[in-house]
Amino acid sequence: MSTYEDNNIFAKILRGEIPCDKVYEDDYALAFNDINPQAPVHILVIPKGSYISIDDFGVNAPAEEVAGFYKAVANIVAEKELAGDGFRTIANTGLNGGQEVPHFHVHILGGAALGPMISKAV
Ligand code: AMP
Repeated sequence: MSTYEDNNIFAKILRGEIPCDKVYEDDYALAFNDINPQAPVHILVIPKGSYISIDDFGVNAPAEEVAGFYKAVANIVAEKELAGDGFRTIANTGLNGGQEVPHFHVHILGGAALGPMISKAV
């Protein structure tokens, strides 16, 4: 696995070096609105620790951080009242996954019917 890049844009947001449109924060996660929303609700949730991807996070983060992060996702879903009509979470990973920012993040998309999951790759 490659090394975490300290100067990625989400690391800079975590350090307060660049602003974000914050919607949630606790000890384990920070969440903010995506700068280029793909749905009426498009929130990015990032762990406070330095993890590149969902697999890096799952393998290397302490269980408390993993639990805290997914509790944060659930808290945001509840605060935004997304569960009733449904929503989508996405964790793009690596080259084939189309990941642009190499700090693990979960997209929460909702507020409208989102259509098919992905365009077909085959
Ligand atoms: P991904 O392709 O999964 O790595 O998604 C990265 C996401 O970060 C994209 O949806 C971008 O629109 C979003 N993004 C990039 N820079 C910022 C920023 N400064 N504030 C909020 N969202 C951002």
